[in-house]
Amino acid sequence: MVVDDDPVALGLLRQELAKRYGADYRVVCTGEVEAGLRALEELLADGGRVALVLADQWMPAMTGVQFLTRAHLLHPTARRALLIDWGDSTTAEPILQAATFDQLDDWVNKPTQPGDEAFHLAIAGFLYEWARPHAPRFQAVRVVGDQWSARSHEMRDLLSRNSIPFGFYRVDSEEGRRLLASVRATAERLPVVALYDGRVLADPSNTEVAEALGVRTHPEPITYDLTVVGAGPAGLAAAVYGASEGLRTIVLEHEAIGGQAGSSSMIRNYLGFPRGVSGAELAERAYQQAWMLRADFVYGQPAVGLRADGPERVVGLADGGQVASRAVVLATGMSYRRLGTPSLEALVGAGVFYGAAASEALAMRGQQVYVAGGANSAGQAAVHLARYASHVTLLVRGYSLAATMSDYLVQQIRAAPNLTIRHGAEVIDGHGDRRLSNLTLRDRRSGATETVPAAALFILIGAEPRTGWLPQAIQRDQWGFVVTGNDLLQEGKPPPLWPLERPPMPFEASLPGVFAVGDVRHGSIKRVASAVGESAVAIQLVHQHLNSG
Ligand SMILES: Cc1cc2nc3c(=O)[nH]c(=O)nc-3n(C[C@H](O)[C@H](O)[C@H](O)COP(=O)(O)OP(=O)(O)OC[C@H]3O[C@@H](n4cnc5c(N)ncnc54)[C@H](O)[C@@H]3O)c2cc1C
Repeated sequence: MVVDDDPVALGLLRQELAKRYGADYRVVCTGEVEAGLRALEELLADGGRVALVLADQWMPAMTGVQFLTRAHLLHPTARRALLIDWGDSTTAEPILQAATFDQLDDWVNKPTQPGDEAFHLAIAGFLYEWARPHAPRFQAVRVVGDQWSARSHEMRDLLSRNSIPFGFYRVDSEEGRRLLASVRATAERLPVVALYDGRVLADPSNTEVAEALGVRTHPEPITYDLTVVGAGPAGLAAAVYGASEGLRTIVLEHEAIGGQAGSSSMIRNYLGFPRGVSGAELAERAYQQAWMLRADFVYGQPAVGLRADGPERVVGLADGGQVASRAVVLATGMSYRRLGTPSLEALVGAGVFYGAAASEALAMRGQQVYVAGGANSAGQAAVHLARYASHVTLLVRGYSLAATMSDYLVQQIRAAPNLTIRHGAEVIDGHGDRRLSNLTLRDRRSGATETVPAAALFILIGAEPRTGWLPQAIQRDQWGFVVTGNDLLQEGKPPPLWPLERPPMPFEASLPGVFAVGDVRHGSIKRVASAVGESAVAIQLVHQHLNSG
């Protein structure tokens, strides 16, 4: 859908869009906003789906931002971009304001001539972003399961966070039943996983799915230069910098490439992505980069132990295997803090979700959704879910968001018409028959409780470091974060069991040759950029460690 009152510009837009995309998309162009809105309403009534809305900012009846806002109410999943004339500086402020309030996704310069490749690059990008979650595409994996079972949720989450194209089919749907029959499977052991090449797995483990998809689940029996534990942003960066600087590098990841960042719907503060980037896309790119540089990845096996064997550091794996290397980078990050309410824990995957759960957002269409948490992750989740849900309530224990959430997010939340913040509120209970149907909330000041209908609760209330598996030789602080570098010194001296003349290097833990980076490290700044930056520095220090002995 394109709206521009300038007939010459509209003519070129129509020509360029129809020429390149007309075979796969319907291109609707109009010079009048009212006609544009009518067309969008008709499409909605006919069940049509809109991929992209482009609007010129300066039109007589309403501005482009106003048009995009109206369009968004009708078609919330369509990408929205302002059309800009070359050199028109008057649109800068509206763009910045609208981006802050989530009223547009992007902007694009109008084509200046036929075949303007910069214009087409932007349009293809918008369509790709829309098509990834919304258009039919090749499904490498088809999963049949109970929509509200915890294992079905886990499987959807893992496939989506690992960027595997998949389709989910409810076992009680006609499609689900047909699919089961066509692969000669029954509903006795769910979920059933049907692979692109005809193989079928009944209730498989994560490792079995990974192996079936050709992902390596065991390391090679060699001594590596570097073992990286965890493939979040910190681990992926350590893999890229380690491998690119000639270290034979292996990365161990037991859940999903991308770590916490992979569950972020939009990271807007990572350098080089002015319009933001989804955590899953950033992770996919970083994974490919590390793979191209020949880093080995072993998936599905958590590291369960670490010991020194002379100069080697040996990481134990859950299946009893091990990886030997000359240095180790710990990048195991954090995992979500649990609410600890038994009735809600019993409904995890069945309406109760830890994390932003990008994979669940589509299923929230038209539902009443609650998000618990007051930090950026909760704010992002609430804004993202508000695109689909009929209403989202953000439950914040404190009385202000100023200290815990970035200002741009607070503004987006305030601007969203279907998003409410409840301060001083906490969830104390929840119930439902096989899936969540209501929550009990308590006002922390008055103690008053209230039961509200709720289809889903997303919990983002902080996190704990994943360090329970580490040996005592790796010193941790009272919360379990790994202590490194100068923080290990007591009255200027290394810890008593430190065996070397030199003190621990920055990012080095209390066992020489073992480094900790990213969220798992004591004192780290919990950001993607800092996790990546710490890894870049740590790899230089790994070299120093290797060269010194
Ligand atoms: C919803 C959400 C939104 C966010 N948005 C932003 C944002 O907009 N901007 C920003 O800068 N930051 C954001 N953050 C924070 C950012 O994602 C984290 O700071 C960053 O991911 C930390 O990276 P990491 O690699 O240190 O740890 P993690 O991302 O936690 O990755 C650790 C990895 O290690 C793996 N692992 C753990 N234990 C083991 C083991 N024993 N064996 C093998 N593997 C293991 C885990 O499975 C995980 O994949 C957000 C976080 C969340 C949850």
